[in-house]
Amino acid sequence: MENTEHLHCLIIGSGPAGYSAAIYAARADLKPVMITGMQPGGQLTTTTEVENYPGYPNGTQGPEMMEDFRKQAERLGTEIRFGYVTSVDFSARPHKVIVDESKTITADSIIIATGASAKWLGLPSEEKYNGFGVSACAVCDGFFFKGQDVAIVGAGDTAAEEATYLAKLCNKVYMIVRRDEFRASKAMVHRVLNTPNIEIIYNSETKEIMGDGKTVNGVKISNKNTQEERILDITGFFVAIGHTPNTAVFKDSLDLDESGYILTIPGSTRTKVAGVFAAGDVQDKIYRQAVTSAGSGCMAALDAERYLAAANDIA
Ligand code: NDP
Repeated sequence: MENTEHLHCLIIGSGPAGYSAAIYAARADLKPVMITGMQPGGQLTTTTEVENYPGYPNGTQGPEMMEDFRKQAERLGTEIRFGYVTSVDFSARPHKVIVDESKTITADSIIIATGASAKWLGLPSEEKYNGFGVSACAVCDGFFFKGQDVAIVGAGDTAAEEATYLAKLCNKVYMIVRRDEFRASKAMVHRVLNTPNIEIIYNSETKEIMGDGKTVNGVKISNKNTQEERILDITGFFVAIGHTPNTAVFKDSLDLDESGYILTIPGSTRTKVAGVFAAGDVQDKIYRQAVTSAGSGCMAALDAERYLAAANDIA
């Protein structure tokens, strides 16, 4: 058929997991082809400074780092194509993937590295200062607010963990909670309540992130019961209200957990479908770091290589 192509190794997604898988797959002569998704480079292309990725002694910029990943994957022989996977059929081999609703690809092995997207409050001021005082990752960006006052919104395990992380670095952490209770586990709430420089502000919603046009200098919040408004003097604003894994297209083909993350066989990147692997944030709601994503991308390529070698032995 004219618009159908068969590949040895298809990689879906172009964040640290996808590119690392590509680097390993290319060097193993799997001739990988990568479909980038709508945001080539993934979440890191929306960040500014990255200081915690090993190998960059002076830090780097997120978009530049992803350019480096891309160049390395391409130099080693990965073919990179802009496109979006619109449906899949893993019911028979070779597994089938439709790109941009029109092109059919069949592949001997597929590595899914489509990542997750941080949820945002949806305020224009949040978008305006994103990367300039507003962040969805305390572990990535907390360091830039050392000794300063910051706020974090959210009340789940991520928010609780990030608030205590920030409390170690920052002078003061305001925790903005929309209800009168946490969603986080008891142990995490206990830790937050026992951290003296975290102030919890219950029943409150964020109205506006304030700044001088370049950096953040405050946040306006409002009490949901009394409508009373208050301005907190802060320089950093962290959003920790959850992530959405980019798995809609796989929901009928793979096992997902209750939050939509792809379930892999523990200690591997294998999914329930032989020949289909998942790496990076799409299967990890705990660590979510560029370096852990890259590590699992490497694992996925090694798992794919072993799977293909075994399939070849049988054939
Ligand atoms: P969750 O969905 O568990 O929590 C999101 C939190 O954000 C909730 O408290 C929610 O409030 C709040 N929220 C959502 N939207 C808004 C909004 N518009 N304004 C204000 N607040 C909002 O996400 P997490 O990322 O915290 O956790 C995801 C999963 O990962 C969970 O299963 C969690 O247990 C797990 N996890 C485990 C960790 C660990 O074991 N170390 C670490 C991190 C996460 P409300 O409660 O009112 O709905």
